[in-house]
Amino acid sequence: MAVERTLAIIKPDAVENGHAGAILQRIEAAGFAVRAMKLIRLTKAEAEGFYAVHRGKPFFEELTTFMSSGPCIPLVLEKENAVAAWRELIGATNPANAAEGTIRKDYAESVGRNAVHGSDSVENGRLEANYFFAEHEIVANQA
Ligand code: ADP
Ligand code: MG
Repeated sequence: MAVERTLAIIKPDAVENGHAGAILQRIEAAGFAVRAMKLIRLTKAEAEGFYAVHRGKPFFEELTTFMSSGPCIPLVLEKENAVAAWRELIGATNPANAAEGTIRKDYAESVGRNAVHGSDSVENGRLEANYFFAEHEIVANQA
């Protein structure tokens, strides 16, 4: 298996509810290396840009209003097989369907306010990381 990177976000609901520390502990316990991290409040337009693939879907307005409602914490995570490993750790989109022990099972409020984001491919992870971080902010990229 190859070492990969993925883009994670601790979403505004989890930050607001005080779960950011617990989620970071799970990230570390699972053996991910954190290569970049920041706290940021997205504008509505920035949230719409990040989720452009979902434009036109019935939940797009709710999703982008939620994602711009308060601070979130994007992170670049690195590990072998990181994309699939992170999605396994976070669980299904809808917490009602998320497996026991997953982050969404334990911290998501609803299918919309579901605590965390995870990229769905290595290529999308790279594009999403570049949406939040300049090259020099991804620490392992520094000379
Ligand atoms: P995932 O985040 O698991 O990759 P999607 O890419 O399908 O899920 O959707 C992106 C985000 O949009 C979800 O994490 C969730 O916050 C929101 N979302 C998805 N489906 C719904 C829905 N039916 N109602 C409200 N929000 C939704
Ligand atoms: Mg997705």
